[in-house]
Amino acid sequence: MRLATGIEKFKTELFPAMEGKFKELEKGQAPETLFITCSDSRIDPSLITQTHPGELFVIRNAGNIVPKPGTGELSVEATILYAVEVLKVKRVVICGHSHCGAITGLLNLDSLDAMPVIKAWVVKSAEVLERLDSEEPTLIDGIKENVRLQIEHLLEYTCVAEAVASKELEIEGWVYHFEKGQIELLD
Ligand SMILES: [Zn+2]
Repeated sequence: MRLATGIEKFKTELFPAMEGKFKELEKGQAPETLFITCSDSRIDPSLITQTHPGELFVIRNAGNIVPKPGTGELSVEATILYAVEVLKVKRVVICGHSHCGAITGLLNLDSLDAMPVIKAWVVKSAEVLERLDSEEPTLIDGIKENVRLQIEHLLEYTCVAEAVASKELEIEGWVYHFEKGQIELLD
């Protein structure tokens, strides 16, 4: 019911004002940013970046994980290749977020024993666990380290590494603290 009402409102109130923009986008898209973030419902990429249709090319999955190339994760791999090689985006943002359920699971792997598929997915970031110094790392430390690890995975894609080397592409790591409305840029 909620969605049907929303669609109706979009159709009758918002779309008429944006119709020209959508007509223009019929010719094609030229987004400057590939935005990789978690599937978490509390993140709205367009809202936090104040961008419009046509501006963000988006990959979302639990934990904003970028598996290394050649590991069979074709959905992520193909989308990265399309963004970098075909659309020639200028920036990739990997955006983790506070209170991430996927990273909570990663830090407590035993809690995922009854959910083997989810466990098999989040352990793609298992290296995060080795990198965290403390015996009992905080969730936010895990979230930040996970973003850093995904940037490294991203740089293993040849097209990404080449575009970064030739300064045609920049990679940014963000942590979105949704409860504070803050975006933290990582080094
Ligand atoms: Zn999350």
